[in-house]
Amino acid sequence: MLTETPDGLHCADGDFYIDPWAPVERAVITHAHGDHARPGSAAYLCARASVRLLRRRFGDDCVIEGLEYGDTRLIGGTRISFHPAGHVLGSAQVRLEGAGGVWVVSGDYKRAEDPTCAPFEPVTANTFITESTFGLPIYRWDRTDEVIADLMGWWDQNRAATMTSVLFCYTIGKAQRVLAELTRVTDRTVLAHGMMLPMIEVYREAGIHMLPVAPATERPRGASYAGELVLAPLSARGTPWMRRLGNHSDAFVSGLMRVRGVRRQRAFDRGFVLSDHADWPALLYTIAESGADRVLVTHGHAEPLARYLTEQGVESAVIRTAWEGEPTGD
Ligand SMILES: [Zn+2]
Ligand SMILES: [Zn+2]
Repeated sequence: MLTETPDGLHCADGDFYIDPWAPVERAVITHAHGDHARPGSAAYLCARASVRLLRRRFGDDCVIEGLEYGDTRLIGGTRISFHPAGHVLGSAQVRLEGAGGVWVVSGDYKRAEDPTCAPFEPVTANTFITESTFGLPIYRWDRTDEVIADLMGWWDQNRAATMTSVLFCYTIGKAQRVLAELTRVTDRTVLAHGMMLPMIEVYREAGIHMLPVAPATERPRGASYAGELVLAPLSARGTPWMRRLGNHSDAFVSGLMRVRGVRRQRAFDRGFVLSDHADWPALLYTIAESGADRVLVTHGHAEPLARYLTEQGVESAVIRTAWEGEPTGD
């Protein structure tokens, strides 16, 4: 049904690629993160809720078609449908049904609740291709409300010390999830770096309830940011832009913050462990729920997860990824 090619996973029957790395004629996209949705393809097909995010990334001239979750489309002899993956707005598992049986490509997914996207929907398959960004037993997530309470405590502490709180997070998914989760504990306005604003706007247009957000740059030079919470992309860290924020504490919100060595190496004042990916237990029960008799593993810690599955008697193998950059949205 799907084969590995230099451009990515290819379905020969329907002549389309799933999350191709290079420009192709027809790209089927699981979600809008940069390591899955690459520019330059002639036509894109994705879940309806992903269309606006892709359009923001690729521009108005791009040919992008959206399918509602659960609707099917016949391409060649392959029936294709999208099902919620619970990762970010519009994220989808891709289900393919044809002569090769039923295949499900998970894309990135999580099982934790998230007010900014449709919850993961278990889909059964003969062959399940799962992500494994956090495919090691050390990765186990805390409850989201506890992480948000921690984050709020850090912000309040910085406010009391007249310091700015700078929270680094990914621009698609994590920023909006934090802004949505925070509505449960505060109604304060949050400031955001200019790079954050377009994607926050797309989420708001999609009806996602989030804290009010103001551009961090609109303040006159020399104005105080003391007590404010500022969301910024990691790429802004250490740039001159940071100087205007004055005396500040910085933090990163990511599943990567689970590992003490990473926290220390990256030298953030604080790390909040909140991930948009499945942790180790969630990967395992999702794989079990798929009912698949063959599991292919890709992205992140693919080898350890594939090895573990093989030891458990599940037919399993690794699919390599050509993506060389940092994963996004972890
Ligand atoms: Zn990814
Ligand atoms: Zn992703």
